[in-house]
Amino acid sequence: MSNRRDFLKNASLLTASGLLAGNAGTMNAANAGAAPVVSAKKKLGLQIYSLQKELYDNVPKRMKELKEMGYINLELAGYNKGKITDVDMMEFKKMAEDAGLKIVSSHVNPTIEGIPFLMEYKRDIFSQVSDYWKQTVADHIKLGCKFLVQPMMPMCRTYDEALMVCEFFNEAGKICNEAGLIYGYHNHHMEFQRLIKPGDENKNQNPWIPIGDQIQDIFIANTDPSLVCFELDVYWAVRGGNDPLEYLKKHPDRIKAVHIKDTAILGQSGLLNFENIFKQMYKNSIQDYFVELEQMPDGRTQFEGVKDCAAYLEKASFVQ
Ligand code: MG
Repeated sequence: MSNRRDFLKNASLLTASGLLAGNAGTMNAANAGAAPVVSAKKKLGLQIYSLQKELYDNVPKRMKELKEMGYINLELAGYNKGKITDVDMMEFKKMAEDAGLKIVSSHVNPTIEGIPFLMEYKRDIFSQVSDYWKQTVADHIKLGCKFLVQPMMPMCRTYDEALMVCEFFNEAGKICNEAGLIYGYHNHHMEFQRLIKPGDENKNQNPWIPIGDQIQDIFIANTDPSLVCFELDVYWAVRGGNDPLEYLKKHPDRIKAVHIKDTAILGQSGLLNFENIFKQMYKNSIQDYFVELEQMPDGRTQFEGVKDCAAYLEKASFVQ
């Protein structure tokens, strides 16, 4: 199964070679079936990465299909220099609005000269990364976003490297904050690896207690709460060996958005207790959540998958 990193890499390559547009064509007639009963009250959000290439064979039509499924809010993926994948971002915004969808958030990974997908931070590129965020923030203000979210973890091989990454996050948060955007960080599972603080190597001699701090916790503890929030991906938290409910309870002031995700279709794996998760989200006053779906495992289309996810949330009495 391809993961997000693979997809982003592939999407980038496809975009660069001009192959992405009009090349999907994987929707089938099943998607045109009867629309589910949609509640006007529920504000379902979708991370558009879930749709992969299928979105781009006919964006206006696909947007309308999403609205019919019950989605209201979108979180973008694929922003690059004024485009969303290969569509001009303002045209993309208009297509969304024409369908009755609102762009609430966007996943953006910094790019600097010569490095299209920056994964390794060094102090000497601090100002280049700042410049990237300034331009990117300006574009996302035009899109009407509330959140700008960094989706991938830069390399954190040591505790000190993780602390340096936090400085970059604080800077991105400051630039977003000054423009009126909320900067967030989105986790996968690798953020739950542990790093040992220098000097603590021999602190814990109990073999049953893991030593070191989880990178996610280093990020939370060392970023400015007024500048950096967290978008908790509940699925990846579980894959990282953590209880997303516990994270929501522990950090009500830091987690401001959530990725609602399961192994594939929501609620089918038994891995996640979405009722508890939603109840805690409401308790924390979290308004914004986005369904996310990796590549469908059963040969059906991504659109069929996100339709089933929407139907699950529409039916769930615990989703307001
Ligand atoms: Mg996610």
